[in-house]
Amino acid sequence: MRLKTEGKTPARVAGVRPETVFAMVAAERLCYAKGVDFVVTSCTEGEHSPGSRHYMGLAFDMRRHGIPAEWVDGFCAELRSRLGEDFQVILEPSHIHVQFSPQRALSGTAEAATDQPING
Ligand SMILES: [Zn+2]
Repeated sequence: MRLKTEGKTPARVAGVRPETVFAMVAAERLCYAKGVDFVVTSCTEGEHSPGSRHYMGLAFDMRRHGIPAEWVDGFCAELRSRLGEDFQVILEPSHIHVQFSPQRALSGTAEAATDQPING
């Protein structure tokens, strides 16, 4: 696992929440199994949609160009399977976006899942 260091906006993990770390570990393990590098290109920094989960530390982007085009859809499906229903994995043209966005209330907490899926 490594962070993108090149470019004008290097990836930073400041403010990333544990749920996101879990998803990064799962993604890293899947990349390892597939023999591709796992590179996080964005966490809380950079420019994203207004209200994006990136700004809450609940999303990250990963590089996709090391994943052959013919199995990138399968890669995303496998990652969704490993992460479960509380996460969204979105294949974007330049990267894979992963976010924590539970669609049902988390038991034992006051935090109801009333939010809408947010892309970007
Ligand atoms: Zn993103």
